[in-house]
Amino acid sequence: MKAHRSALDAAGDAPMLAQVRSWSAINSGSRNLGGLSAMAPLLADAFSILPGDVTLLNAAPGDEISRDGEAMPLALGQNLHVCVRPQAPVRILLTGHMDTVYGVDHPFQTITDRDDGAILNGPGVADMKGGIAIMLAALAAVEASPLASRIGYDVVINSDEEIGSPGSAALIARAAAGKHAALTYEPSALPDGTLAGARPGSGNFSILITGRAAHAGRNPRDGRNAIVAAGDLALRLARAARDGLSINPARIDGGGPNNMVPDQAILRVNLRPVLPADQIAAEALIRDLMQTIAREHDVTVHIHGGFGRPPKPIDPPAERLFRLVQSSAAMLGQSIGWIPTGGVCDGNNIAACGVPVVDTMGARGGAIHSAEEYLIVESLVERAQLSALVMLRLAESARV
Ligand SMILES: [Zn+2]
Repeated sequence: MKAHRSALDAAGDAPMLAQVRSWSAINSGSRNLGGLSAMAPLLADAFSILPGDVTLLNAAPGDEISRDGEAMPLALGQNLHVCVRPQAPVRILLTGHMDTVYGVDHPFQTITDRDDGAILNGPGVADMKGGIAIMLAALAAVEASPLASRIGYDVVINSDEEIGSPGSAALIARAAAGKHAALTYEPSALPDGTLAGARPGSGNFSILITGRAAHAGRNPRDGRNAIVAAGDLALRLARAARDGLSINPARIDGGGPNNMVPDQAILRVNLRPVLPADQIAAEALIRDLMQTIAREHDVTVHIHGGFGRPPKPIDPPAERLFRLVQSSAAMLGQSIGWIPTGGVCDGNNIAACGVPVVDTMGARGGAIHSAEEYLIVESLVERAQLSALVMLRLAESARV
């Protein structure tokens, strides 16, 4: 611990608060390409204090189903990748996201100081521009330590996390390969610093139903009603929800004028399996119900989407990493536990690569995804020191 003192002091001196203020002043909603293209070079510049290669990479191509049922190319921002000492004996992955849930036309755009500056209220201050500042401060502190040569790392800061990382999941998976551990800088699960432990998975699907149009009065029996079929599918899916698998039919697009049997509908549905076995069951359920609907309504059914976030149970390697974070916190006089949560993040995808991950290493704060989002300012230094100590202890031992 004594050996780490100067590195921890360095973490405390980093310009985190100024960074949070300047980064949160830029709207970087996942769909705001202009804002993201302003944000990405700022981050690349900030991370260039590290000794590795800093690159901005284009998102992987993908598409989404429009309200008319057309596959449209997804427009996404660039992702930041930093690679430092890939040959080091201990290698870890650090991830964060530069995007926020607030679009360019959202009313929440400005930062407000509260409680004499102890609290910062603003878009993305906790989720997760504060987390990015913490990550960078911790890495800079590690670089100031003689242990730095023992630890190499990749940093990925993506621009589409809040919409499920469609254009960056492959980059994260590549960067996770061969790593001992991963740290992700989502804000703590509770304002007291409690970490998020197990997470369910999440899958988003657009199910396209094509029936047959007909006149509602003259020959309705010749029609095949896609809206009715989509409604039937929504009801059957909802009824199949159980402990371990939540199912939320969220929206039906399609249909048309009252005098026509509608021939097209798109059902959007989200499924959250707790365990990998629940995901397999969910996939079978969707397959079976699609066949039933196609047969009983005489329609064609196509599905688009998938489980972009696999379930993240806590396995023994993950448990060891949580204990390392917990004991590091104790060395700093902080008391930290973890709880399961219903949310998902890139930590799900990292865990699915077989790499143990603690994904709430970022700031303490709360009310994220709302105009009340806040950051507890003193947590910047606290969490930067925690992260730095965790990384230095990882550097000391080849295994978690
Ligand atoms: Zn987040």
